[in-house]
Amino acid sequence: MNDTIVAISTALGVGAISIVRLSGNEAISIANKIFKGKDLSKVKSHTISYGHIVYNDETIDEVLVSVMLAPKTFTTEDVVEINCHGGIIATNKVLEACLLSGARLAEAGEFTKRAFLNGRIDLVESESVMDLIESKSDEARKLAISGLKGNISKLIEKFRDNLKDLLSSIEVNIDYPEYYDIEVVTKEKIATDIKKMQTELQNLIKESINSSHLKNGIKTVIIGKPNVGKSSLLNRLLQEEKAIVTNIAGTTRDIVEGEIYLDGILLNIIDTAGIRKTNNLVEKIGVDKSLSMIEDADLVIVVLNSNEELSSEDKEILAKTKNKLRIIVLNKSDLESKINIPNLDNVVTTNTLTEEGIISLKEKIKELFNLEQIKSKDYTYLTNTRQISLAKKAYQNLLDAETSLQNDNPIDMIELDLKECFDSLGEIIGITYSDEIIDNLFQNFCVGK
Ligand code: GDP
Repeated sequence: MNDTIVAISTALGVGAISIVRLSGNEAISIANKIFKGKDLSKVKSHTISYGHIVYNDETIDEVLVSVMLAPKTFTTEDVVEINCHGGIIATNKVLEACLLSGARLAEAGEFTKRAFLNGRIDLVESESVMDLIESKSDEARKLAISGLKGNISKLIEKFRDNLKDLLSSIEVNIDYPEYYDIEVVTKEKIATDIKKMQTELQNLIKESINSSHLKNGIKTVIIGKPNVGKSSLLNRLLQEEKAIVTNIAGTTRDIVEGEIYLDGILLNIIDTAGIRKTNNLVEKIGVDKSLSMIEDADLVIVVLNSNEELSSEDKEILAKTKNKLRIIVLNKSDLESKINIPNLDNVVTTNTLTEEGIISLKEKIKELFNLEQIKSKDYTYLTNTRQISLAKKAYQNLLDAETSLQNDNPIDMIELDLKECFDSLGEIIGITYSDEIIDNLFQNFCVGK
């Protein structure tokens, strides 16, 4: 890790400015070789100098160079950022000059990986950097920034501190049982402590799974027979939010997709091909596709025409969606009601020729996904499968410890489970890690980050 890395850290394309970033022991001497201006080895840390990048007597660009000395930098190493004019050719030439002067092209995510390996940020914070870059909604951004500020890391540390306290009092009792003045850890006390941690960890896992919609949005599918008002409903939802509608070539008719932000949370809505029994092969493919989309969806909106009696197709749709999180929209409420639906949950009445019922529908979505509650918890959640599966492992370790305790197993067996729990939690924030996992994780980052 001693070599000096370089990459273009801004998006590739034409812009006013692009930044070429260097990090490592040689960052300043490499920049100095190609910079005509002040001697960068003599400038103060965290200052900007004006000059030119010159390579082989050719002036490549007019630049501003920031020098940031270790350890107060993103990677904790010496960092130089060259602000070039944003053309693709000029920026690449500056990068090339750095490479020819001794730097190595950074791998994807290598700057962040160094920040992690050098102890500047932990693993959850590293992942939050990526989440922040990739966030598609304001809520996703809030979640990422909370992670980056260390909220979830602090919570995990707190769990680990509690475990450490419990473990050390168990050990004191094993090692020095003859001391009167130390608190005796009875099995009851251990059981109470373990139970408390179990509950807290279980809640965190549950809330984190719920909160995944903050980051990933809610995949919503509108389904129903032809002519019940699905497109009208989608348009009504999109129109209000002034979202962009994209057409994806479909089979019987186009499948239309759009995105809206519901209280800052991304709702990706797909209007499917109308479902009806058909002998037309091409149309059947469309219908099958609509049905398969139900499987993938987080939320299904079933639209029924309240002006008609419930048909066999409607019944089939209701049966196919009964195990999904769903809202039933009784549309065309302006017309005479002829529908007679069985007692079903989450029914909203709309008239998509007007606004009627649209607010109720949105409120229903917020309620079903607990959006208000998720947002009120300071965004302290585990945000990806890696973190959640390790938390589940830690929870399992606590369950094992509890079982051992109930079975009157020797105390060192219980200690073993608690230590494993301690390690699983440590893995979440990267206190213990394997090189393979770290390499995999950072490879998903973009180059230059
Ligand atoms: P889709 O095939 O399910 O997507 O249905 P559309 O949105 O294309 O609507 C089918 C027809 O029903 C159109 O003529 C709409 O104007 C009409 N329609 C949609 N919503 C309503 C409604 O709430 N009330 C009435 N009266 N007509 C509606």
